[in-house]
Amino acid sequence: MPEAISAQEATGGLSVRDLSFRYGAKTALDAVSLDVTPGCFCALLGPNGAGKSTLIALLTRLLVAPGGDIRIAGHDLRAAPRRALADLGVVFQQPTLDLNLTVRQNLAYFAALHGLPRAETPGRIDAALDRLGMRERADEKARALNGGHRRRMELARALLHDPKVLLLDEPTVGLDAAARQSITDHVHDLADQGLCVLWTTHLTDEVRDTDHLLVLHQGQILADGITGEIRGDTPLSDWFLSKTAVQA
Ligand code: ADP
Repeated sequence: MPEAISAQEATGGLSVRDLSFRYGAKTALDAVSLDVTPGCFCALLGPNGAGKSTLIALLTRLLVAPGGDIRIAGHDLRAAPRRALADLGVVFQQPTLDLNLTVRQNLAYFAALHGLPRAETPGRIDAALDRLGMRERADEKARALNGGHRRRMELARALLHDPKVLLLDEPTVGLDAAARQSITDHVHDLADQGLCVLWTTHLTDEVRDTDHLLVLHQGQILADGITGEIRGDTPLSDWFLSKTAVQA
């Protein structure tokens, strides 16, 4: 279990300490602590009901926990929420695009909401679309894109303000196998380029042996380390099932 947040850890990445959350009598998260460093792809793997969406909601301040500590790129989310959220990019589970706007218009709208300087917006949009191989689709309506390209567009949008930490809540839900592979590869590339990535999933095939793996089950972290070391000689799917199977 991670120790108290050190000065070094606090300068980058994502750090969570002792975070708990209840919906009435139901405990959704129970004293969760974790660290994700810059340049790291961290898979938060958990079955349905594990608490993944609750954690994302707390990290994005949709929900506020009574205690615990969350730091985003060194900023305390409770004490300095604006600075913390300015360094955070988020791809939510439910698509949040305006299908009647073009790709570029969707991104420009988000840029305005974030208060990005108008003069910088076109250049930032082009750079974000280039990163995702979406530049040639910029003037198409979102409605004309397939599911994989819509997801990539949401990813481009989440990167527009140049965040240090990127959260993705089950971002492959509803995508076909090729689109899943493509978006998983893209986000690994972003981590290789220095971004701190937290990717939630219940699918073991999205997790690579070299990824940082956090296993969440019934609101608690069951495992925290490098995937290949955690699973040993057991396929991750078997390992995960054996750890998270609910006893009858
Ligand atoms: P996951 O995203 O891993 O599927 P959630 O964070 O959605 O898990 O849910 C964690 C637990 O909290 C589950 O037991 C779920 O039933 C419960 N839960 C989630 N949202 C609510 C809510 N609004 N009210 C009551 N219980 C909830």
